[in-house]
Amino acid sequence: MIRTFTCVLVSLFLCAAARASASPIARHVFIVSFDQGAPAGILKADMPVFKRMAEEGAHTWEAYTIVPSVTLPAHTSMLTGVGIQKHQVTWNDIDPEKSVVQVPTIFSIAKKSGLVTAMVVSKEKFRTLHQPGSLDAFILPSDPSSKSVAAAFAEMVGKLKPNLCFIHFGEPDVVGHAHGMFSPEKMRAFADSDDALGTVVKAITDAGLLDSSVIILTADHGGHDRSAEELAGMAKAGVPPQPGTHGSALPEDVTIPWVAWGTGVRQHFLITAPVVVYDTAATALWVLGIPVLESFWGRPVTSAFDRPPEG
Ligand SMILES: [Zn+2]
Ligand SMILES: [Zn+2]
Repeated sequence: MIRTFTCVLVSLFLCAAARASASPIARHVFIVSFDQGAPAGILKADMPVFKRMAEEGAHTWEAYTIVPSVTLPAHTSMLTGVGIQKHQVTWNDIDPEKSVVQVPTIFSIAKKSGLVTAMVVSKEKFRTLHQPGSLDAFILPSDPSSKSVAAAFAEMVGKLKPNLCFIHFGEPDVVGHAHGMFSPEKMRAFADSDDALGTVVKAITDAGLLDSSVIILTADHGGHDRSAEELAGMAKAGVPPQPGTHGSALPEDVTIPWVAWGTGVRQHFLITAPVVVYDTAATALWVLGIPVLESFWGRPVTSAFDRPPEG
């Protein structure tokens, strides 16, 4: 009887050990999105932090976003793991009448596993992704600059120590629309956002989380410059001409960067497997040791990691 009981205990222990060995790659995942972060612009801009992390970690400059390549639908795919046909967030405005997304987000899924979740964003429309009870912190600084977003993140991260956190830099998008994709102003917005990324990494380090973190750098979409004819047409119609735009399936609009950096990430690795924006959601959960839902379209970018979880 005692022996049987001991056997049961031992098998229970082994079972628990087996579960524990299906361990997460990291305790913390930070997803940093550079709005309108076209790889061609990032490569041209003065962004030493982004480029160092891409070079040191695993990266591709040829990941893809969804069509339409616009902010809210694309970020919804990034953070729900499914395409627009499934998540149905087809709008891109801040209409308070529009309800929150109806499919699970990575935050609501992580919350079910008892993890701490947060979002620091520079656009109000991200409230669409804030399902009740899914976030421990939803931070929208009154100043939407990347510097301000990074400062708000730095203020929060040491206190909350989120397991899953999304950080959104909207500045490159606003400036890209107003001045064009490769304008000096856009290059400055990229450089400022890179400084802000430096602030984010330092804050994660200062919070003592760096050794247990994976940081993903990506974008919701790229963008392209309007033709002289289009701009002339806008001027003629009395619309303020906006040189930069996106939303189409043009390669410039749909190509995005995807970088993983941190613990368990393969070093100096060029990702050659296809990566789509909704793979970010699957990768974040997989890194945290949370099973990816069957309903996800996204798959973890396993090739970017040299320490895949067992089981
Ligand atoms: Zn955008
Ligand atoms: Zn835009």
